[in-house]
Amino acid sequence: MIKLTSLFSGSKGNCTLIQCQQTNVLLDLGGTCRSVLHNLQEMELSPTDVSAIVVTHEHSDHIGALCAWQKKWQTPVFAPKSIAKVVAERCLCNVLPIDGSFCVGELLVETYACSHDSACCFGYRFSCGGEAVASVTDTGCFGQELVDFLYPCRTIQLESNHDENMVLQGPYPAVLKKRILSATGHLSNEQATQVLQKLIGSNVKNVVLAHLSEQNNTAELAFNTAIKMYSRYNLVEGHHINVFVAQQNKRSVTIE
Ligand SMILES: [Zn+2]
Ligand SMILES: [Zn+2]
Repeated sequence: MIKLTSLFSGSKGNCTLIQCQQTNVLLDLGGTCRSVLHNLQEMELSPTDVSAIVVTHEHSDHIGALCAWQKKWQTPVFAPKSIAKVVAERCLCNVLPIDGSFCVGELLVETYACSHDSACCFGYRFSCGGEAVASVTDTGCFGQELVDFLYPCRTIQLESNHDENMVLQGPYPAVLKKRILSATGHLSNEQATQVLQKLIGSNVKNVVLAHLSEQNNTAELAFNTAIKMYSRYNLVEGHHINVFVAQQNKRSVTIE
């Protein structure tokens, strides 16, 4: 059985735990080492139980705690090939370059190329024993390729970063607004919902909406945008489909 738990998610830091049998992978290590450790401890895991850390991209909300972590525990770190050197230099640790799919223990890890204003950003699909979960955040647009990538998964974590109107009416400078809304920024609630709509009829049963902006979104807005769409197809949340919202300050339930 493969499990996904969002330890925390948002502009201040991201960390997701993927588990299968004896393998525990941390997807990104943003935020603080302390918060990661605190969450692991509550889940009765020790840092030495972490088989690997897999990095999506080099922005600090995804690698901010990596340097401190690696000082204490030399966990194998994987990052996209083109940013492996940057991550290694910034986090003072060895980084294994990802160039195609790879394995960590029982998990097969496959990549999706995100459209983001970083040197490189990957979404990941983790498979084990005929089951799959995926996480795709930090991508400004989507096409059929993303839908195909998520299609076989039982559980997906998908970015639902902002409400477009909140961005436009909010206090951010114009240049930052433009960045967030661009094709190399972040997926809005509306865009995430369009992806979910295309996944109706797929294997997807559990959806975790993630990387919400504190300034430009609320958990209710992200959740309701998805739910409204599902209800148009007579799909009932909690019955046909389960929708969760990953939070910045609270760990999600473990989705099995
Ligand atoms: Zn980013
Ligand atoms: Zn991010």
